[in-house]
Amino acid sequence: MISLWFEQIDGKIYCATQKSAKIVSHLKNNPVCGFEIAADKPPYKGIRGEGTVKITNNGNTILDILIKKYLGEKESTLSKYLKTNSNTEVAIEITPHKISNYDYTKRMKDTVLSTGKECPTCGSKNCESVNKGNTDVISTWEKYQCYNCKKFWYY
Ligand SMILES: [Zn+2]
Repeated sequence: MISLWFEQIDGKIYCATQKSAKIVSHLKNNPVCGFEIAADKPPYKGIRGEGTVKITNNGNTILDILIKKYLGEKESTLSKYLKTNSNTEVAIEITPHKISNYDYTKRMKDTVLSTGKECPTCGSKNCESVNKGNTDVISTWEKYQCYNCKKFWYY
């Protein structure tokens, strides 16, 4: 399983990757794939499906669209780096056949994350510090988010 940036255009899903990537030769040999579009933080909800895959040569165009979507219009080191290799970029085009939605929001309502903190608004223990790894924050206050009622608060 790999995670890729994606964009939906006319009912198809597009990703971009380097021509030499393992996933490309794999998909050429076996042009059917399962996919999942999901948030990378709880509550977990999204769509899952199956589709046929075509590798197309408009990777360049798709990459531009993805950079705008995920990095914005402003040039960054990452966007510049990605563009230097864009001539060997191919697009992965997925035509979905089966799609199903899933939503674990309800099921996760009572999830207790290991933080041991309780949301002051709704009392759920499905809360997590959202400061982690953010070294820009020079503060002794820690920001928490409740995934149940979506509120933020500070400790
Ligand atoms: Zn809450």
